[in-house]
Amino acid sequence: CAKAEGRGTYRVFESQMGAQVRDRRLLEHDLRSALVSRQLSLVYQPQVDLETGEVSGFEALVRWNHPERGAVPPSTFIPIAEETGLILQLGEWVMRTACTQAAGWTAPLMIAVNVSAVQLHAPNFVAFVEKLLVETGLAAERLEIEITETAMIRNMNRALANLRQIKALGIRVAMDDFGTGYSSLSNLRAFPFDRIKVDQSFIRSVHDNDQSAAIVRAVLGLGKGLNLPILAEGVERLEELDFLKDEICDAAQGYWFSRPEDISAFEDVVRGTSKTLSGQKVVPLKRRA
Ligand code: C2E
Ligand code: MG
Ligand code: MG
Ligand code: MG
Repeated sequence: CAKAEGRGTYRVFESQMGAQVRDRRLLEHDLRSALVSRQLSLVYQPQVDLETGEVSGFEALVRWNHPERGAVPPSTFIPIAEETGLILQLGEWVMRTACTQAAGWTAPLMIAVNVSAVQLHAPNFVAFVEKLLVETGLAAERLEIEITETAMIRNMNRALANLRQIKALGIRVAMDDFGTGYSSLSNLRAFPFDRIKVDQSFIRSVHDNDQSAAIVRAVLGLGKGLNLPILAEGVERLEELDFLKDEICDAAQGYWFSRPEDISAFEDVVRGTSKTLSGQKVVPLKRRA
C-alpha cells in the first residue's frame, strides 16, 4: 500500500514537472510575440534624495501584460528571457524606451535601467547604448545602469571591460541588490561603481530588527569609506525611512514614496513644476554629518 502511494506521489510529481516545463515553453513562445505586439510596457519608480527630499530620478521596470494571463511578473519572465537569449531584444527595447522617455522630460532627472548579465556580455552592448544616446539626445550623465552581482560573476573579464567602456561614456553604474549575491565585496573592489543599492531584504523592518540595522549601518559605513553613495531599496514604512535618515543614507526608493507607475503619474515632476512627489509629506532637510 505504501509502495503504491509512493508511486502515485511520484507520478503526481512527474506530471507537475511536465506541466511546469510545458508552461515555461508556452511563456517563452508568448514572450517572442509580446516583443512585437506591444504587450510590454515600462513603469517608473521615483528615487528620492534624502538630503533634500527631492526626486532625483526614476528606475524603469518592465511589465508584461499577457493577453490571457494578465500581468506576468518580471521574476517569472526575465529568467526565461535570459535563458533563451530573448533578453537581448527585450533589453534593447527597455533601454530604447526608457532613454526616449527620459530625453523628453523638461527636468534633467536621472533614468536608471536594469541590465542583465547576458546583455552585459554581448559584444555589441556598448556600441548599442552609445548609438542610442546619440539618437535620443539623452545626456550620458543622466543614464544609470543597474547591475546585479550575479550579472558580474558569470564572466568577470568581459563584464568588467564592457562596464569600463560604459563608464568612459559618462554613464553611471549602480550595483543593484547589494548583499544578496556571492562576492559583493570583491566586486566592489574590482569595479568603480558609482553607487550601491542595498537590497530591500535588509531594509525591511530595519527599525525593529537588530540584525538588519547592523548590516545597513555597516553598508553605510562602507559607502562612506569608499566614497560611494548608498540607496536603500524597498522602503515601505515611515519608521524605516526615519532610521535611514538618522543613519545618513543618501537616497531611497520604495512603496512609501511611490509604487512603480505609468510615467503620467509623475507628470509634474518630469515637467519640472514640482521637485517632490504630489501628496507626499516633504522629507525634512537633513544636514550631512
Ligand atoms: P530590482 O531592479 O531590484 O527592482 C526592484 C523591485 O522591487 C521591483 O520589482 C519593484 O517593483 C520592487 N519594489 C520597489 N519598491 C518596493 C517596496 O517598497 N516593497 C516591495 N515589496 N517591493 C518593492 P519588479 O518590478 O517586480 O522587478 C523585479 C526584478 O526584475 C527587478 O529587481 C529586476 O532585477 C528585474 N527587472 C525588472 N525590470 C527589468 C528590466 O527592464 N530588465 C532587466 N534585466 N531586469 C528587470
Ligand atoms: Mg533595479
Ligand atoms: Mg534591487
Ligand atoms: Mg532585484
